[in-house]
Amino acid sequence: MTSTDVRPSQNVMRPDKDTFLVQENPFEEMMSRFDDAAKRLNLEEGLYKILRMPEKQIIVSVPVLRDNGSVEVYTGYRVIYNTSRGPAKGGIRFDMQVTLEEVKALAAWMTWKCAVVNLPFGGAKGGVICDPSGMSNAEVERLTRRYTSAIIDTLGPDSDVPAPDVNTNERVMAWVMDTYSMHKRHTVTAVVTGKPIEMGGSLGRREATGRGCMFVTREALKKLKMPLEGTRVAVQGFGNVGSVAADLMSKEGMKIIAVSDKTGGIYNPNGLNIPDVFAHVKANKFLKGYKDAEAITNDELLILDCDVLVPAALENVITAENAGKIKARIICEGANGPTTAAADKILNQKGVFVIPDILANAGGVTVSYFEWVQDRGGYFWDEETVNSRLEKIMVRSFEEVTTMAEKHTVDNRIGAYMLSIERVAAVHRLRGMYA
Ligand code: NAD
Repeated sequence: MTSTDVRPSQNVMRPDKDTFLVQENPFEEMMSRFDDAAKRLNLEEGLYKILRMPEKQIIVSVPVLRDNGSVEVYTGYRVIYNTSRGPAKGGIRFDMQVTLEEVKALAAWMTWKCAVVNLPFGGAKGGVICDPSGMSNAEVERLTRRYTSAIIDTLGPDSDVPAPDVNTNERVMAWVMDTYSMHKRHTVTAVVTGKPIEMGGSLGRREATGRGCMFVTREALKKLKMPLEGTRVAVQGFGNVGSVAADLMSKEGMKIIAVSDKTGGIYNPNGLNIPDVFAHVKANKFLKGYKDAEAITNDELLILDCDVLVPAALENVITAENAGKIKARIICEGANGPTTAAADKILNQKGVFVIPDILANAGGVTVSYFEWVQDRGGYFWDEETVNSRLEKIMVRSFEEVTTMAEKHTVDNRIGAYMLSIERVAAVHRLRGMYA
């Protein structure tokens, strides 16, 4: 049996999230922003060297018995980027595009994201090079269990806590939790987040990222003295993040004038009826064909005349080509990495207020933190408690990021990096260097 047995199929479950590697070296691309922030903070050279390297990089071979009786061996990674502030936190993805460089970049990203909202977590990421859409459920289960047992020494509620990512979901997290618990000889729910509610998942987790986007957008409007009522919003992506953000923003009184998915966008300058749009998607799977709106392309959506733009689908959609044409006053980055570094400069010159991804979409990891807290305490909160605690953290973090940006006269993205690097660095200084 050869490795050609694991070809990428046309049918990868979430192809929209697979293009991170388009950049030449994702780790260096992300770290160029780190470098900028570190320089402005006058970070000591020694600390700079420490924070620029992952703590640990694990590569494992994962043998899996296929349903046809053959054996395939997959390569899996887990990168622990930094644990100075607490257990490492970060998802596991199953995808043909997984590389060690990508996993390193995403692990660093998690470190800064957790620090920007001040969660007591470090950052990690994991992945297995495979195409789960070409595998049966039983094969995915065996892959998950064998990968979990291969990295079991790093896992644990106090050391490394995975979550779902590209092509993994709460079903996969349940298998990770079970495998870990069988090895430990007792049930350990807090070893993963993003679990089904029945086995220790948190209420409000599914909506958390979109809800966080709504909270920070509301704060940005307040800051720019723009009204909430009637503010025109365009949302790219109508999946988990985009659809929840659109729904909650419209409930706050904002006018959602356009939304899109991979089939294209729909636009109504008088405001879309969001419950009606949900009903259409439920019946037809996609937005295409929705009656009470004009059909537009995803490219057109980005440059619509609107007040708030929420890119919540893909990375690298706001580029040097279209940044000059963007009319929104506020961009709330629901997706990871939607804006290129070149576009950042143009937006900055135009005075567009960008709420950077590591802040804007941190609602998800914040409620993952709540899940971990609830599991460890064995005491579960009602949804209202989850949502109001999320609101407090998002509002406070927005204030802290914008204060940092203003203090150093930088954009909000560099402000967010400065805040998180400073937080991670402060703990390193206090802990000192072991041996
Ligand atoms: P999802 O798969 O639920 O939804 C993605 C949406 O994007 C879908 O509506 C899809 O049709 C649309 N899409 C795909 N290709 C497109 C294209 N070419 N043009 C326009 N739209 C396209 O994914 P999600 O969970 O909502 O995640 C979206 C983004 O948010 C990703 O960047 C993800 O990494 C990021 N994010 C998600 C979470 C979370 O909790 N789900 C947390 C943090 C960051």
